[in-house]
Amino acid sequence: MYLEDVQKTAQEQGILQQDLWKMTQTWEPGVLPDATALARARDSLPQTLPDDGLGFDWATKHVLDDMVPAFNRSSISPNYYGFVTGGITPAALFADNIVSAYDQNVQVHLTEHTIATDVEHCALGLLVDLLRLDRRHWHNGTFTTGATASNVQGLACGREFVLRTAAERKGLSIKSVGEHGLFEVMQAAGLSGVQVLSTLPHSSLGKAAGILGIGRANVRNICRDDNPLRFDLERLEMELAAPHKASIVAVSCGEVNTGQFATSSLQEMQQLRALCDKYGAWLHVDGAFGIFARILDPPTAEFASLTRGCEGMELADSIACDAHKLLNVPYDCGFVLSRHPAEAMNVFQNANAAYLTGGQSGGGGGRELSIPSPLNNGMENSRRFRALPVYTSLLAYGRNGYKTMLQRQVRLARMIAGWLYDHPKYNVLPAAGSREALLDQTYMVVLFSAKDDILNGGLANSINATSKMFVSGTSWDGRPACRIAISNWRAEEERDFALVTHVLQSVADESA
Ligand SMILES: *Cc1c(COP(=O)(O)O)cnc(C)c1O
Repeated sequence: MYLEDVQKTAQEQGILQQDLWKMTQTWEPGVLPDATALARARDSLPQTLPDDGLGFDWATKHVLDDMVPAFNRSSISPNYYGFVTGGITPAALFADNIVSAYDQNVQVHLTEHTIATDVEHCALGLLVDLLRLDRRHWHNGTFTTGATASNVQGLACGREFVLRTAAERKGLSIKSVGEHGLFEVMQAAGLSGVQVLSTLPHSSLGKAAGILGIGRANVRNICRDDNPLRFDLERLEMELAAPHKASIVAVSCGEVNTGQFATSSLQEMQQLRALCDKYGAWLHVDGAFGIFARILDPPTAEFASLTRGCEGMELADSIACDAHKLLNVPYDCGFVLSRHPAEAMNVFQNANAAYLTGGQSGGGGGRELSIPSPLNNGMENSRRFRALPVYTSLLAYGRNGYKTMLQRQVRLARMIAGWLYDHPKYNVLPAAGSREALLDQTYMVVLFSAKDDILNGGLANSINATSKMFVSGTSWDGRPACRIAISNWRAEEERDFALVTHVLQSVADESA
């Protein structure tokens, strides 16, 4: 019975995949499920595990009829502007189904057994090319579940480096936090803590600090009084010079509320690099979505401020990136790049598991291996072949495909920002001065509020209640604000501008 079921499943999966393909290539106007669909889905959830299976037919019908209508269309609709969700390119969707069907585990590099780990390494190189980084220094890192995990990994490597450096500067030879533990190393080096210095860091840096024993309270804003997005370099140097502290500097390359950049020139990155070198600090970049502005190359006047915003990122020690946002591949996929592969090995090595290193010695046919097993430079020991959708999508659309996609997203964001700027009832944030300056600085995120407090208080809810588009509610300068993040490959300037301005106008009119 069980076997029959599995065989049948395999046959029907072939059909099912084509249906899935069709389902996700068309979207319905609503971006959120209606209340009835949600209620029906909730009522259909079983209270207990059935002893006997309900069968493949029943289970798949249940998912399609009860669950799917209760999903939002966050990746499918071009008008879902919440968070930074991205979409899924057709090539990525295809590859993701292959990943599930063949279920390759990439963590141990078994050269004679599967090409999967080689493909991951290759995909990482393609990403390094896409971001215009030098392969000689940057073709190191790993695929992660997303930018949060990438930030954990970047800060973990930073922690390793800064504590060893602090110890060395005191004449001690301490090998590794990964080996000896945070407490022994801190004590030996005479340090009282590690701090992460940033400007409006993404909340995941706090989470990373919590996980890594640095502490959320030690992630600190070192921003200028007149601009919360930029470093106060004088204060930064004072903090770096603090005795008994080791520091990681984290650059918000794409601040999540505004989409704006923490630096605006190669020279600023050089200054940060020089400060980090002087004080033995690690320079980490949170480039989840911002780093992708490097695709807008060669520089043009139209995108000059964006190009400048991610200039000099090659001077960093580690860069955290998302793939499930602007690369438009399915969750869960991010990557972390680092110029110092040895640090990741110090932290993540899966020591003393002989059965897992079989492929590295002997098992690989005696060939010299240049690709480290991901098992030793990332968090998991077994994991999904999550690079295949990235690989397939990059090859399908190329540098220019991704560039065109991003240009459309930025242009649409700027059209909306300009419209809001001119509108008597709305403000664009942060207050930018001139219309030209605003448009120049706008990436693919538009932050705005209503001038009137009553309209503003319920603005995100009023917009989302239309179900024609979705915005994230946030706050800026102590007032509620809304955020439009354009990250779907389906974005189309004229069509989406008409829809967005129609919704925003109707919400403003209703409040009159
Ligand atoms: C989204 C985001 C993260 C976290 O990424 P996840 O993919 O949600 O783990 C980190 N930093 C920035 C700037 C982000 O936009």
